[in-house]
Amino acid sequence: DTEVWEPVPHVVATPLHQAPSDAIVLFDGKDLNAWESQRNPGKPAEWTVAGGTFTVNKKAGNIITKQKFGSYQLHLEYYIPADIGGEGQGRGNSGLFVAAIGTGDEGYELQILDSYENKTYVNGQLGSVYKQRIPLANPARKPGEWQTYDVIWTAPAFKQDGSLESPARVTVLINGVLVQNNVELAGGTKYIGKPEYKAHGPAPIMLQAHGVPSKPNSFKNIWVRPL
Ligand code: MG
Repeated sequence: DTEVWEPVPHVVATPLHQAPSDAIVLFDGKDLNAWESQRNPGKPAEWTVAGGTFTVNKKAGNIITKQKFGSYQLHLEYYIPADIGGEGQGRGNSGLFVAAIGTGDEGYELQILDSYENKTYVNGQLGSVYKQRIPLANPARKPGEWQTYDVIWTAPAFKQDGSLESPARVTVLINGVLVQNNVELAGGTKYIGKPEYKAHGPAPIMLQAHGVPSKPNSFKNIWVRPL
């Protein structure tokens, strides 16, 4: 009586180092067709694609996905150059905005930064929900090695009048290590001031072109599974 046979979970093929068969591929090593410029909506994402990866072009600014998403699971791989230089927030600073809701660095930022033997404020280190949640651990590899970033994002919900119905939640694993465990967010990321919610619907995913002078990071193998 305790054996349940339905509904049968759908089959997903999981070839090694490739996107699961039911994922939306956001970068397959060839082009940035799934992305566009944040600053010039509808215009190409002018970051540099080469050798199956792509590299931040700081002059071109942030890039966002053409498609909008609610809740999802996401995977990406990132690379911080071995000779990154700089210190603190100046080393390999980028960011994964799980939902970009404005025209600049607005939304919810999961920090990408070189945190290998690089001290900074802990709510701004690798794997932090920027200025909100300190990561549970620091699994940063040395610059010069590829690293993985996996996210389960539960989008916030808003009532008709724009007030918050249910807050956002996020789980993050870096290099397979849990750094955020289904934590609740207090609102969108702010560089200065307290986070706060602004009502929004499905939103693009954004990668940050941070203005720090250190060498740019690279990315590959990005996919998302809407939930
Ligand atoms: Mg950042």
